[in-house]
Amino acid sequence: MHVLVLGGTTEARRLAELLVAALPEDARVTSSLAGRVASPRLPPGEVRVGGFGGADGLAAWLRTHQVDALIDATHPFAGTISFNAAAAASAAHVPLLALRRPGWVPGRGGDWHPVGSLEEAARTLPALGRRVFLTTGRMGLAAFAGLDALWFLMRSVDAPEPPYPARMEVLLDRGPFTAEGERELIRRHRVDVLVTKDSGGAATAPKLAAAREAGIPVVVVRRPPVPEGVAVAGTPERALDWLRGPGGGRTGAQPSG
Ligand code: NAP
Repeated sequence: MHVLVLGGTTEARRLAELLVAALPEDARVTSSLAGRVASPRLPPGEVRVGGFGGADGLAAWLRTHQVDALIDATHPFAGTISFNAAAAASAAHVPLLALRRPGWVPGRGGDWHPVGSLEEAARTLPALGRRVFLTTGRMGLAAFAGLDALWFLMRSVDAPEPPYPARMEVLLDRGPFTAEGERELIRRHRVDVLVTKDSGGAATAPKLAAAREAGIPVVVVRRPPVPEGVAVAGTPERALDWLRGPGGGRTGAQPSG
């Protein structure tokens, strides 16, 4: 039996750990990474890196490697691969689950400005502040490139490539982050507005509490929807339950404790 996990997230790594521990020894657990990060933290089990060549390529991979269940544990904003996963699973008749951590909520007193895209975030910014803490990742920075009157502190795992804003300091770092560290960044750089995707999860959430404490607005990019008809689990543990149940089926995993 063979489970393919589309990864690139903390939850995907945790899921691979759970599967390797829970499935019979002869089961295969393969994690797939896009290859965007130069030195990713690798999950246990088998790992493959790089695109499949669209939905057709992924469907062919599922057939060739005799995959019994597909779990899309990619980032909530990785919309293309999730769409491809839905199409490929349907074409190859492989059960599919989307593992999606719950989105964030503003919290009492949070000054949130939900937007539908990075472009809309960029249009919203000039009315909200001048010193921006930009945490939407290194991709898509072109949306902010024309905002010459604003200064950006841009944090990402790997260095960004142009086009990006003219007045920008890059901070290379990877979560988890602490509330204390986030407070200090906002204070030291005199940040007066935060931009984030609604990524969810604990590792990068402390910036939200720090922004609320500092009384600064937060521009929040909404998630793309999960493809229609795809089952969703909120945690790696629930994903394992799905695999053991009739939805995932055929894996032989035994309930633990
Ligand atoms: P995307 O726009 O949905 O995907 C673009 C293409 O990258 C896909 O069509 C696919 O290429 C390839 N791809 C994406 N995820 C893959 C995976 N797990 N394994 C193999 N190929 C994959 O994705 P993205 O937003 O660029 O994100 C890329 C990866 O970074 C994802 O794995 C995601 O979990 C992780 N990530 C994304 C974000 C974010 O904000 N978007 C944040 C943190 C981590 P083919 O069509 O050739 O198969």
